[in-house]
Amino acid sequence: MTINFIDLERQQHRIKREIDEAISRVLKSGQYIMGEECLDLEKQLAEYTGRKYCISCANGTDAIRIALVALGIEKGSFVLTTDFTFFATSEVIAELGAIPVFVDIDETYNICLLDLEKKILELKGNNKKLVGILSVDLFGLPANHTEIDRLAVTHGLWHIEDAAQGFGGRLNNNRACSFGNISTTSFFPAKPLGCYGDGGAIFTDSLEIADYIKSLRVHGKGTHKYENINIGYNSRLDTIQASILIEKLKIFDSEVLRKNEVAAMYTLALKEISEISVPVVPKGYSSSWAQYTLRVEKREELRSYLKEKGIPTAVYYPKTMSQTKALNLFSEYQIGEVKNSVNFVKSVLSLPMHAYLTDNEVQYICENILKFYNY
Ligand SMILES: *Cc1c(COP(=O)(O)O)cnc(C)c1O
Repeated sequence: MTINFIDLERQQHRIKREIDEAISRVLKSGQYIMGEECLDLEKQLAEYTGRKYCISCANGTDAIRIALVALGIEKGSFVLTTDFTFFATSEVIAELGAIPVFVDIDETYNICLLDLEKKILELKGNNKKLVGILSVDLFGLPANHTEIDRLAVTHGLWHIEDAAQGFGGRLNNNRACSFGNISTTSFFPAKPLGCYGDGGAIFTDSLEIADYIKSLRVHGKGTHKYENINIGYNSRLDTIQASILIEKLKIFDSEVLRKNEVAAMYTLALKEISEISVPVVPKGYSSSWAQYTLRVEKREELRSYLKEKGIPTAVYYPKTMSQTKALNLFSEYQIGEVKNSVNFVKSVLSLPMHAYLTDNEVQYICENILKFYNY
């Protein structure tokens, strides 16, 4: 048996005709960038997430960058963010001349509230120019946004939700991309809602911020394309990608549902293994399972054992943010330890996760993991 880690082929097979038709419509329309489908998609995504405004853009990294600029980030200001994420999250903070201070994670792989509060108080106590919190919904699970938003309001900070992996997740009745002052997401093919290239979106409930973001996305334009009122970016979404996303959004909920079935099967079978910690989804939360990530003993041995059986696995992430060479630049600004983050990189292992895994495939994966640990 050969299993794909993420299976975009099976997904494409399901909606091939719809996608082909959508693409030909765009080809005929001649509006290849920010065409009608982009506006349709923005409307649909705003409705889906419960946000007032959605602004599409070129990718998930730009989405965060533009969000930071829209909130007026300045050189030398401090931003609290998670130590355990994809590099892009902290990269844009650094690139804009601000200073990322890394917060530890808890067993959900998301930002630890106790450490967050501790670091807010410490930075404020030392009169540092702390301006905001950039949280991440890692592996599809929303962070504890109720409490992060409360801390942000209490301490006069902004909050950006990086939901590049979180789209489709929920916290109580609120969807990912609806938290904080601004939320961002990515449509990179392997993300929960992916297109066939690069794409991203920015969400907010503030008309003023939405207007500023629309300007930043197209070279700081004013009411007219050649009336430039801000220094901005070229970060527009291609119409073909929007048309693909519109078709994928139609089947998205059914995919998230199936991924939740797969996750439940994994968890049921693997939770009895004492060498394994299965992912935690706290009460009131639901995940869109961008990844199904275990913490395991004997990781490298397990990986090669599974590889021989045709089961691909991945390590998200092999390094914490503070451990990367690029961000070492900021080591003098870090406060205390990031214990879980540093421990978890040594044992995390992500299993194949997509909506087109069959029950048989999931069973086969579980059986082999059980066998490896002699269960
Ligand atoms: C993928 C990802 C991004 C960047 O998205 P791109 O579309 O690849 O630029 C940012 N943050 C997180 C957490 C991601 O997983």
